[in-house]
Amino acid sequence: MSSGRSTERAERRAAALAEAVRRGILGPEQPLVGLLDIDDVLHAVDALHRAFRTAFDGPAPVRHAFAAKACGLVPVLRLLAEAGMDCEVASPGELQQALAAGFTHDRLVFDSPAKTVEELEYALGHGIAVNIDNFQELARVDGLLGEGRPAGPVGIRVNPQVGSGAIGAMSTATDTSKFGVALRDPGAEDAVVEAFLHRTWLNRLHVHVGSQGVPLPLVAEGIRVAHGLAERINTEAGRQQVTGLDIGGGLPVNFDDEDDRPTYDDLVAELRSAVPDLFGGRYTLVTEFGRSLLAKSGTIASLVEYTKSAGGRRIAVTHAGAQVATRTAFAPEAWPLRVGVLDAKGHPKAGPTEVTDVAGPCCFAGDLTAQARPLPPIEPGDVVALYDTGAYYFSSHFSYNSLPRPAVYGYRATADGDVRFALVREAQSIRGVVEESGLEQAGALVELRLDSPADDA
Ligand SMILES: *Cc1c(COP(=O)(O)O)cnc(C)c1O
Repeated sequence: MSSGRSTERAERRAAALAEAVRRGILGPEQPLVGLLDIDDVLHAVDALHRAFRTAFDGPAPVRHAFAAKACGLVPVLRLLAEAGMDCEVASPGELQQALAAGFTHDRLVFDSPAKTVEELEYALGHGIAVNIDNFQELARVDGLLGEGRPAGPVGIRVNPQVGSGAIGAMSTATDTSKFGVALRDPGAEDAVVEAFLHRTWLNRLHVHVGSQGVPLPLVAEGIRVAHGLAERINTEAGRQQVTGLDIGGGLPVNFDDEDDRPTYDDLVAELRSAVPDLFGGRYTLVTEFGRSLLAKSGTIASLVEYTKSAGGRRIAVTHAGAQVATRTAFAPEAWPLRVGVLDAKGHPKAGPTEVTDVAGPCCFAGDLTAQARPLPPIEPGDVVALYDTGAYYFSSHFSYNSLPRPAVYGYRATADGDVRFALVREAQSIRGVVEESGLEQAGALVELRLDSPADDA
């Protein structure tokens, strides 16, 4: 089913690509760029809020936190903050990005599986919601709090061990997942209950079943388990100790065509049937969506530098490879991308298709963004667009071959073809690449070799 949203998004994207070429935002000087459709992002935020709001009879006690790792760009985070989102962070870098974007401490959720003592101290003292990953971390928190209480909500992340989705690396609720307390392990559930009964300040449970590839019934089953545990804790505590359920993110994204499916409405419908009490109003819900809010709003566009053929296969060599499409290059089966072919003016190409590989600039053979695809004939100077790359692609750079991070622009496009751009992130300069590769320490190893070891002794 094709929705109005997806058709309009495709039209705006076409207008933005042509205009980016016309203005030289994409061109010989800058052969690779990331583009983000701001209206489409806000549309997704709105769809998320609406889907959950309508599930509650009365006021909706729900906070939607954006998972910063999906697109850790400060202007994007600022836009989401303005649109009423909270933010989920899992590293010191993400925390500082979120603060720079204007999220106050009470709008943050801190989820790293490897939180240091310092990070915990900061989060607990500033009212950032913390989800504790394991019992060692809990002991650390005990030590930091002493007789005191945390300034914000604190939960424990549980792994309901409901199984894997289609992509193993994205599945966080397998029997042996590294995340959370594995609830079905002998004694684990009782230990979580005990932990709550001994700590009046523990008041949340957190579950995140996985990301791309996890089907909705599995997501719902994980949340059902966490909800059931919250009910058990509250019964045994004789009061409503668990007041918040953080149900994670992980709504899968459709990378096959333009449609938005499944939708947030689909997820809410699944949750209403699997866990009817979830929307009863007794628990504040926290969500942590990332990919589903941004993926379809983003595009990577590259000039085609060369075309060639090898062993009968056409190959288009572009500037977009593993450095911006890392998962697609390394796990092409799990992360296929839709590819658009445009002419040198940025207009869609038509014509009889040829089976083509689309390659990137990295020096390894697997650096392909599409393999054996029927595509219109590609020539040098054309533009190749990688669709649905607004999350975890241009924002999750991989420094292979010391390739620089490309510029990212947000855009707004009207139906009559008027397009406005805003720079979101400058392209990294080559000087910048050299500086972050130890330029300051250029002589360090030669000096170490010349140093006589005896001097150190
Ligand atoms: C990555 C992650 C998310 C976001 O997942 P998406 O698939 O991008 O929605 C949410 N919560 C946690 C704990 C995560 O690690």
